[in-house]
Amino acid sequence: MSEMQATYLKDYLPPAYRVTHTELTFDLDPTATRVKARLHLERHPEREAGLPLVLDGEGLTLKQVAIDGQPLEADEFEADAHSLTIARVPERFRLDTEVQIAPDTNTALEGLYRSNGMYCTQCEPEGFRRITFYPDRPDVMATFSTTVIGDRESLPVLLSNGNPVEQGELPDQRHFVTWEDPHPKPSYLFALVAGSLEKVEDHFTTQSGREVLLQIWVEPENLDKTDHAMASLKRAMRWDEETYGREYDLDRFMIVAVNDFNMGAMENKGLNIFNSAAVLTHPQTATDAAFQRVEGIVAHEYFHNWSGNRVTCRDWFQLSLKEGFTVFRDQTFSADVNSAPVKRIEDVSFFRTAQFAEDAGPTAHPVRPDHYIEISNFYTLTIYEKGAEVVRMLRHLLGWEDFRRGSDLYFARFDGQAVRIEDFVACMAEVSGSTSTSSCAGTPRPAPRRSTPTASMTTPPASTICVSPSVPRRPRGRARSCRSTCRSASAWAWWGPSRGTI
Ligand SMILES: [Zn+2]
Repeated sequence: MSEMQATYLKDYLPPAYRVTHTELTFDLDPTATRVKARLHLERHPEREAGLPLVLDGEGLTLKQVAIDGQPLEADEFEADAHSLTIARVPERFRLDTEVQIAPDTNTALEGLYRSNGMYCTQCEPEGFRRITFYPDRPDVMATFSTTVIGDRESLPVLLSNGNPVEQGELPDQRHFVTWEDPHPKPSYLFALVAGSLEKVEDHFTTQSGREVLLQIWVEPENLDKTDHAMASLKRAMRWDEETYGREYDLDRFMIVAVNDFNMGAMENKGLNIFNSAAVLTHPQTATDAAFQRVEGIVAHEYFHNWSGNRVTCRDWFQLSLKEGFTVFRDQTFSADVNSAPVKRIEDVSFFRTAQFAEDAGPTAHPVRPDHYIEISNFYTLTIYEKGAEVVRMLRHLLGWEDFRRGSDLYFARFDGQAVRIEDFVACMAEVSGSTSTSSCAGTPRPAPRRSTPTASMTTPPASTICVSPSVPRRPRGRARSCRSTCRSASAWAWWGPSRGTI
């Protein structure tokens, strides 16, 4: 593979060009799928003029490239194993590319792959670059129009993000479906599924009275195992309206259960893809715990529609912005619809057993790391579970009403944008007058200050809690710099030894 090279948060720059709209056409074939991409690009207003256009791409066979309809000569662009570079581009232009990929031999299980005759995608965090040349980073958000073409008999179902707007027959026993997703999204939320699947359907009426079609797509033998997932989805949709004021925003919401999906579940916009084990249940074969687990996962992925999709991460250092907040939301949902004390005991028990061990070991890292070599290694208990505990702490410090007002402000202010953890915290600070920070590793140990006679551990006054590390500190120099960062926090401090991430 490529040389080991770290990516640093401090080096972040906005993309040189942003994509306003993406048009994709997939002509599916096991060994020679053609992907045509038409990207509507413009220079980012915060970047200087005249920069080259550099697009990510892995394992792609480039067939043609054109700008504003004019094919480029071989000396006008450079394509290597990881990128496509065009030295001179206009301020605003249309880029057409066509590439060939081989889903059958894609064993990375990122990008578009084919397993048991079914096509499926996994793009988070950096899989989209295995599909086409693209600025494959979460702060490039575009609307998508996707046409999927496939064999009518072996691929009767052709799914992608958004709402279906056109479908029809083509020569050679092929057919197509075109999908429009009107909500700007980063490439990691793109999804495509094609295969021989069957569905169960239901409907949900949103709080504003819109009718949403709900579909769960499975292999035929699993049709009798979807009832609980569908009921869980409807409960989650209602809960998010009542608790956070968040309403679903497309005409349909789809879940696909895939036997050969290597992640647990993925929140692709309007088209969640699950490993079958995370969505299918039957009273004769599943325990109560399995039923609750499916309910929690279905809810988690659905909740991402707002905390992750409508408002997403500026860069992958902000991963806990969507995961910590969404885990907190799914924990609270499960507590509300089941037993709150039992749920909290389960979560704390898991947290103390697993995340504390991570924090005390060589892979300890801050909720927001400052560098990484491979971001796929950072889907950790710290990002998810500790991130959720930080959000829970904010909720306790602020009280529910202020926390909800902060959440409303966050969604309203940043809808359709890619933002940072600081932006979330700033919204909470703005409605409450409190601030916080979480830039260090280590298990915190709350302790009352000497001047404070007693301190409530559930809703402490802003000035009464400080936090000390329970894991050995690094040499003074490193610890001091970390501590001084955290000293600026007025509500609470989260400090300990900053560790390397790899
Ligand atoms: Zn998630």
